[in-house]
Amino acid sequence: MALLEVERLSVNYGAIAALEGVSLEVEAGELVTLIGANGAGKSTTLRAISRLLRPLRGGLRFGGQNLLGLPPDRVVGLGIAHCPEGRQVLSRMNVEDNLRLGAYLRRDKEVAADLERQYQLFPRLRERRRQLGGTLSGGEQQMLAIARALMSRPKLLLLDEPSLGLAPLIVREIFDILAELHRQGVSILLVEQNAQLAMRRSDRTYVLEAGRILLSGRSSELMGDPRVQQAYLGTGAA
Ligand code: ATP
Repeated sequence: MALLEVERLSVNYGAIAALEGVSLEVEAGELVTLIGANGAGKSTTLRAISRLLRPLRGGLRFGGQNLLGLPPDRVVGLGIAHCPEGRQVLSRMNVEDNLRLGAYLRRDKEVAADLERQYQLFPRLRERRRQLGGTLSGGEQQMLAIARALMSRPKLLLLDEPSLGLAPLIVREIFDILAELHRQGVSILLVEQNAQLAMRRSDRTYVLEAGRILLSGRSSELMGDPRVQQAYLGTGAA
């Protein structure tokens, strides 16, 4: 049984079908990428998994438990953390308080130890821990958003376009951190515009086109597949 099982999921925005019968799985410890052109439905898939929107049909299970019907905070409590596109760091709160916010559902005594763990993973955040979120660079805000998501001690991290708008060097730094998290055994479902980079760093890839899964397989095998590029250019067969 996979850690995350998405089965024939369909989501509509009003009369518009955003996802139609999307099935995908993430095994424990896997780094899986979801790629596709703008508007293919990548963010919608992540938002449905974290219960920020209600699917029309389909199944959603995590660790064997049915997620449908659960509110988003219960989903976080089960071990799914969503790091949304656009980062959504609280600009008037300092870095450390932003991080503590990620642990708001936790009642254990290890929050301080986990703060320290994030600072080891992201040394720049330690240097800036008293700075307001809004004063950080785009790359630092992305790091903060990931670190904040990790503060809930997720089994599965949903990451929406972590490289968006960032300089290549920072993107590399962020992907190195994702590789480290992967090594530590965190399961990751990554949405990325930068398909080549994402495929190079992930175990498996799903290609979405116009709300449907067009292709899926080992990333190493899909990297040279011309249909991946076609999907990106929006010319692949639906
Ligand atoms: P991007 O890379 O541009 O974020 P995406 O693959 O993440 O694209 P989604 O944001 O999931 O795509 O959008 C899928 C489809 O649903 C698109 O056609 C989009 O216009 C539409 N859509 C997304 N959010 C809404 C909304 N709140 N209301 C209506 N339509 C929406």
